[in-house]
Amino acid sequence: MEGLGLNPIMKRTKVIDALKCTDFGADICVKGWVRSKRGSKGIFFVALNDGSTIKNVQIVGDETVIPEEIVKQITTGACLSVEGKLVESPAAGQASEIQATKIDILGTCDNTYPLQKKGASWEYLRTVAHLRPRTNTFGAILRIRHNMAMAIHTYFHEHGYFYFHTPLITASDCEGAGQMFQVTTKNLYDLKKDENGSIIYDDDFFGKQTSLTVSGQLEGELGATALGSIYTFGPTFRAENSNTPRHLAEFWMVEPEVAFMDLDELMELEEDFIKYCVRWALDNCKDDLEFLNKMVDKGLIERLEGVLKEEFVHLPYTEGIKILQEAIKNGKKFEFPCEWGDDLASEHERYLVEEYFKKPVIMNHYPKKIKAFYMKIDAEKPVLDGKEMEETVQGTDVLFPSIGEIIGGSVREESYDKLMGEIESRGIPMKDMTWYLDTRKYGSCPHAGFGLGFERLILFVTGMQNIRDVIPFPRTPKNAEF
Ligand code: ATP
Ligand code: MN
Repeated sequence: MEGLGLNPIMKRTKVIDALKCTDFGADICVKGWVRSKRGSKGIFFVALNDGSTIKNVQIVGDETVIPEEIVKQITTGACLSVEGKLVESPAAGQASEIQATKIDILGTCDNTYPLQKKGASWEYLRTVAHLRPRTNTFGAILRIRHNMAMAIHTYFHEHGYFYFHTPLITASDCEGAGQMFQVTTKNLYDLKKDENGSIIYDDDFFGKQTSLTVSGQLEGELGATALGSIYTFGPTFRAENSNTPRHLAEFWMVEPEVAFMDLDELMELEEDFIKYCVRWALDNCKDDLEFLNKMVDKGLIERLEGVLKEEFVHLPYTEGIKILQEAIKNGKKFEFPCEWGDDLASEHERYLVEEYFKKPVIMNHYPKKIKAFYMKIDAEKPVLDGKEMEETVQGTDVLFPSIGEIIGGSVREESYDKLMGEIESRGIPMKDMTWYLDTRKYGSCPHAGFGLGFERLILFVTGMQNIRDVIPFPRTPKNAEF
């Protein structure tokens, strides 16, 4: 049978395919790592996993067939090649198992193996992040992570967006989204400085100061104003010293940017896109989600299905402030104040999403002064308690239960003069940024886009609590292991 490993060289069959096969009596070869072994009266059972699925295939060995030397080396974590016959399983919960005729030890594993015992803490597993993909939970998370990447590319491809590659090394220091990591080949102990003590970059690799990007948006806008609809999907870097369960120093961001899109269309895109990804997970990651639902978060699948049914609330910032102030009047206690103009703290966002509306919220029309310079200024000022407030912008944050902000987006200011006004009044260094301003100078067009933190999406879809546990090798302050 094709693919089952029945050719003379015994090609290996993946466990995921072996478990689906009902061709009982067929010869088969599987390879993988031992999850557990037990036995009695000369018969032993090995749970073998090769990463293709959360499920293990059961290997049944007879000690009169498999040499004692080999049996001894079948320990937790060891890597095996198993040849045998696929048979119907008498055991509950599995259709088939493999009666071994020959076992080769590809790699032994002694009792210093760090994943020996079950139920290790998340903190402990982070210290062995190089091996944790071999656990059930991380296997599930990483397969889901792959599937979410496929969902993202498929969504945009099907909707006519082009995958646009923006640079990771940037010379612009006005992205403003966070502290940047510098990129240099200079000897840091022997820096050339001018009379004011400022570093001279002439002889550095790029001949100027460069950093790792905090967002692909500005270059993404160049793509959108040429190709119409683009998206970026790549690593971004923020040297923010925030040790939270929601921030990484290196994370992946998805940033669509679309010409001729207005605020309502932007919010529609944000909602449709997230729902598509969640539906993809439910359709394509059933076994892994069921495992996580059982072992990590009992409400996971229900929450994912719930999001598909809900219409996201569209909430102007000023309305949000009204709700929060009303709640405070009625005795609700918050740690931080929330006056109009304040950046909402996560306790405020969580109150709105988890207690007040009990569904995802797209907050919009934020005060101009707490948002980035490129956001489009609203035509009218909002009114609160009969008083006119300051200017607002067409920014949107998508707020999710337990995650908080999952998306930040906006309509971009397309007027050259208004944009320049913001740049000047905020004192933003626009040296070497004429390329960005050219989008507004030559055939400027209305456009909008958003940034979604890929790991925040994975947090939501897996039910995990800490962002360090949804990326293979997390980078956070004081941590760049592996
Ligand atoms: P936050 O307020 O949560 O720090 P932000 O407002 O700085 O986020 P944006 O600049 O709007 O974030 O970035 C777009 C998206 O990227 C955010 O909505 C979030 O999903 C994600 N994101 C931002 N910073 C980080 C980070 N340090 N680690 C992981 N994801 C992040
Ligand atoms: Mn944001």
